[in-house]
Amino acid sequence: MDYLKEREAIVDVMKTLVMLGLTNPKGGNASIRLGKTVLLTPSALPKHRLLPEDIVLYDMETGEYRGKHRASIECNAHILIYRRIDEAKAVLHAHTPISLALIDAGIDLNQEKTVESEYSIGKICVAEEAPPGTLELAENVARAAKKCRTIIVPRHGVFVWASNIYDALDTIISLESMAKYYVVKRLAVKNLL
Ligand SMILES: [Zn+2]
Repeated sequence: MDYLKEREAIVDVMKTLVMLGLTNPKGGNASIRLGKTVLLTPSALPKHRLLPEDIVLYDMETGEYRGKHRASIECNAHILIYRRIDEAKAVLHAHTPISLALIDAGIDLNQEKTVESEYSIGKICVAEEAPPGTLELAENVARAAKKCRTIIVPRHGVFVWASNIYDALDTIISLESMAKYYVVKRLAVKNLL
C-alpha cells in the first residue's frame, strides 16, 4: 500500500485522541501533506477504529480524491490551510470538551501562562463560527491559521496545524491539559483556600 507509514500515523493519532477523551468517535479528522498529495481521514467512520486502507488521498494539483470512502467533512479546511501555509504538513481537528467549554464561556485561554502554553500550544485564535463542513468554515479557519497554529471554532472544536502530525497531537493534548489546569486552579482558589 502506498504511504503506509503516513496512513498508520493518522490511524494512530485519531485512536489516541478518542482514547484520551480529547474527541468523540464521530468528531474530528486528520491529514498529512506529502508534496502535492494530502492523506485525509474518511467521513463518517468511527475515528478510533480506522484502518490504513480507509485513508483518502487528495491530489492538490488535479483536485481529485482517491480511496474507498468520501473524505472527511472538513477536508476543505485542511486543504485551504495547506494552500495558504507552506510550513503546514499536518492538520488535526478534535472536539476537545474542556478547552471548548472554556472558550464558549467567554474565557480567553491566552491569559493562562504554563509550560504547555509557552512551548506546545502557542497563541490560541478563535475563528468565526460557521456550519460544519462549509466553505465558509474552511475560510474562517484558514484565515485564523495565518496568525495561530491553534484555532478554536466556538461550539465546535479545535484545529491545529504543525510540521508533523505528532506535534499537532501534542498540541491538542497540551491544550486540554492546560484547560483542566485552568479550571482546577480556579476551583481550588475559590474552595480550598
Ligand atoms: Zn468537527
